[in-house]
Amino acid sequence: MAPRTVVLGAGFGGLELSTMLSDAFGDEAGVTLIEKGDSFLFGYSKLDVLFGASVDDLSLPYSAFAKPGVRLARETVTAIDAEARRVTTDRGEYEADHLVVALGADYDYEATPGLTEADVFYSRAGAARLAGEIGSFVTGHAVIGVCGVPYKCTPAPSECALLLHADLVRRGVRDDCRITYIVPQPNPVPPAPDAAAAVLQAFAERDIEFVPGRRIASLDRERRLVVLDDRTEVAYDLFLGVPTHCAPEAVVAAGLAVDGYIPVDPGTLETRHPGVYALGDCAAVGVPKAGAFAEGAGRAVASRLIAAIRGEPIPNPYRGVGACYIEFGAGLVGRVNIDAGGGKPSGTFSGPSEELAADKREFGDSRRARWFGL
Ligand SMILES: Cc1cc2nc3c(=O)[nH]c(=O)nc-3n(C[C@H](O)[C@H](O)[C@H](O)COP(=O)(O)OP(=O)(O)OC[C@H]3O[C@@H](n4cnc5c(N)ncnc54)[C@H](O)[C@@H]3O)c2cc1C
Repeated sequence: MAPRTVVLGAGFGGLELSTMLSDAFGDEAGVTLIEKGDSFLFGYSKLDVLFGASVDDLSLPYSAFAKPGVRLARETVTAIDAEARRVTTDRGEYEADHLVVALGADYDYEATPGLTEADVFYSRAGAARLAGEIGSFVTGHAVIGVCGVPYKCTPAPSECALLLHADLVRRGVRDDCRITYIVPQPNPVPPAPDAAAAVLQAFAERDIEFVPGRRIASLDRERRLVVLDDRTEVAYDLFLGVPTHCAPEAVVAAGLAVDGYIPVDPGTLETRHPGVYALGDCAAVGVPKAGAFAEGAGRAVASRLIAAIRGEPIPNPYRGVGACYIEFGAGLVGRVNIDAGGGKPSGTFSGPSEELAADKREFGDSRRARWFGL
């Protein structure tokens, strides 16, 4: 009988780790996966929602996640005692031999005065609401703005700008609209100079104004302007925001976060508490906050647990590698491969093409089938 593994959060990391343990041990896997939501949505699907797709059509219901040896408990984690490896939820208590914290990152709207969920395309509700605004946007200034780093999927706001351009062209109103993208970082894809250059070139060709090195400090909805961290005011007619991110409340309350996120051993992803692991967006491990990395980290921890349970040699240390797709609009997708293994992340880039758009579809289809059987 395998030890009791309790996994918190059924996102990219938690789903992949639980699936691997189920594949390895079947009915004997002994996994409890705790998740507060009723469905999974790929992060990038929020961009589809922003441009008109329905959240319901793209959501994958957790009721379809049926894996031998894994019980998916639809509960909210309210407390974590890492020392005792004990978790409290709104329905009960769980004791674990192995505890995996994969709760993702939350949004701290209050960090940006004036900002609410209605102003950001990073949440399901925000993306759905802003889709309505985009649909009726035919003239004026669209501002895409980042409120703080780190944030999920570094290229996503660039994709938002490029997709907005394509949408406005399709609707025949691009000449009546201005698009500006404001971000604290020096370029749109810091770990990958080739990808950054390609995105900057695409901005230049499409007349998208890029403002690096500046953060959205506050938002005044009444006067329809954003204030940057150097106090510059920028008037907008459409604002598409990326909120400041933070660790989930339960992680902070448990005292697990240091400087924002959960420190882990970069090779094992184990926290300072033996038998307690943290992975994905809630962990501080020097890799981008992206689904591909959370999934890879889930695989790495699962491999270690499987080897330990079977008494096999411990696998190689985790190496933060992963690929992110970048939408360029008009059905073209590029891909950036990031390797964070050597300390400082570095990246290579494959330019936008229809082939990579097909690869991205296959990426989503394969996860949907593997995790949800759909
Ligand atoms: C607009 C946008 C575009 C993106 N594009 C890409 C992309 O192209 N490629 C890519 O790789 N990544 C992309 N991402 C990022 C990606 O979605 C995240 O990095 C990824 O989901 C992180 O995985 P995770 O497992 O760490 O956390 P998550 O997937 O966020 O999962 C965490 C889970 O924990 C649950 N949870 C949280 N708190 C509790 C609690 N108290 N109790 C119970 N359950 C709880 C949540 O409901 C959630 O299901 C994008 C994100 C956005 C917003």
